[in-house]
Amino acid sequence: MRMTVLGSGTNVHPTRAAAGYLVETDQLLLFDFGPRTLMNLIKAGADRHRVRHLFITHHHTDHFADFLPFFFDAVFHAKFVAPRPGLTIYGPRGTRRLFGTLVKAVPGFAQAPFPLTITEMRDGTIRIGRTRVTAGTVVHSPSLHCQGYRVEHNGAVFAYSGDAEYCAGLVELCQGADVAVLDCSFPVQRPGAGHMHAGDCGRVAREAGAKRLILSHFYPVAERYDVKAQAGRTFDGRITLARDRMRITLPSRAAPRSR
Ligand SMILES: [Zn+2]
Ligand SMILES: [Zn+2]
Repeated sequence: MRMTVLGSGTNVHPTRAAAGYLVETDQLLLFDFGPRTLMNLIKAGADRHRVRHLFITHHHTDHFADFLPFFFDAVFHAKFVAPRPGLTIYGPRGTRRLFGTLVKAVPGFAQAPFPLTITEMRDGTIRIGRTRVTAGTVVHSPSLHCQGYRVEHNGAVFAYSGDAEYCAGLVELCQGADVAVLDCSFPVQRPGAGHMHAGDCGRVAREAGAKRLILSHFYPVAERYDVKAQAGRTFDGRITLARDRMRITLPSRAAPRSR
């Protein structure tokens, strides 16, 4: 499994794209598609016309805005250049209404010459090829259903919080993960509602027994403090600050032999 950070910042950030992660298994999976992440997807060398599975954590625009230029380009490309496979958008409650409305309202979108499927994920696991994706509800905004995701393939486990406060659902999603990418919007000194600070991230990683913690989704204020050291007060595993286009390979493990 390989994971590429497409965006480690927030909606408006001077140097980082907003939320987005590419996960490559036997599938090409995109988790969130915030502003400026489409350019990083292209710069990372991924073929955007092969993206068939897009997972959205919640409906704040820093997590989905680049769907618009992506889909506009996909329709154009499929019409005039080469056919592309269908696209499935997965997300929390309300995803069918939001993306259904966009596809109806934005000129040209309804004429896409490839199938578009919109699936609202309940908390649970789906299988795509040999990859398992689990969605779990996390606490972020009282008015929105928000989910984090866990991906399993060949024994490797990747977990992603989306935007979240410390909550039991998030600890469960990250259980034993090789890599957990967590919302580290703030430093301990400047906490904010709906998000974790670095200390919360360390606590989630420790309680989940994660092997490696990647801090991401930085507001500019987080960069004025040593958030890595702050997370390290509770988590003694490896901690990395996310950077746009950082690429990480997760170890494969042979499945245990059944008796
Ligand atoms: Zn949010
Ligand atoms: Zn966000």
